[in-house]
Amino acid sequence: MASYLGDCRLCFEKNIEIRKSHIVPEFAYEKIYNQKHVFKPIAIDNKNIKWEQCGYRERLLCQKCETKLSLWEGSFSLVVKELSAKSYQKLTVTETAGIELVGGFNYLHIKLAVLSIFWRMSISKLHMFSEYELGPYAELFRNILHEGSFVSQNEYSIVISRLNYRGSYYPGVLMPLSRGRYDGCITIQSLVLNGFLIELHVNDGRYRKPEVEYFHVRESGKFILACRNLEEVYVNLGSLAKRFREPDVISFFNKT
Ligand SMILES: [Zn+2]
Repeated sequence: MASYLGDCRLCFEKNIEIRKSHIVPEFAYEKIYNQKHVFKPIAIDNKNIKWEQCGYRERLLCQKCETKLSLWEGSFSLVVKELSAKSYQKLTVTETAGIELVGGFNYLHIKLAVLSIFWRMSISKLHMFSEYELGPYAELFRNILHEGSFVSQNEYSIVISRLNYRGSYYPGVLMPLSRGRYDGCITIQSLVLNGFLIELHVNDGRYRKPEVEYFHVRESGKFILACRNLEEVYVNLGSLAKRFREPDVISFFNKT
């Protein structure tokens, strides 16, 4: 491939070779490629469905930044793949009352990997990701990713849920969703990846919502993997949070 010179969107290095970066990590496409390594996206407002190869890519980053993001993505890929296969080598997963408690991962890697996906979708010019706008947070996220800074569990918190459709989990679902709001004050951006709903709460920690904090991916390297129905993902987390105010769940969670 001929090299392409430009400015890196992450480190701002100028006149450097810019790679065709994946917007959503490549591992997310593994379950949806066919044998010819192509897949067919279906957009509601676009009748011209065409085969796509190698996922959605765009020239965004220099090799150094690509390498940095791929380290975080590697940890995230491991979490998603093991949860998807329900086979655990690195992760520890305990289940009670229909709730899975996931542990054994690198918190900061997962946090930065997820922030980087939402940041890439936000700066992408591809139509597929046009709903993802971080506005003033885009530059803030870029800084965090550039520095590899620590971000606490309640800042730009992440919630991961296993999605069921008519009672079954489908690992091959990759789907952008439009943004929503929680309790009128927190913007939530979501993406369905490998059949998991990944939610980013665009909240710098100013608004505290204890019932939602149960679900945050935690600095201790643990999170609660809730199971939700695809048909209900537009319903806010509050309805699910009711379950987490019940005594058996609270005592389970307090023990961990
Ligand atoms: Zn760079």
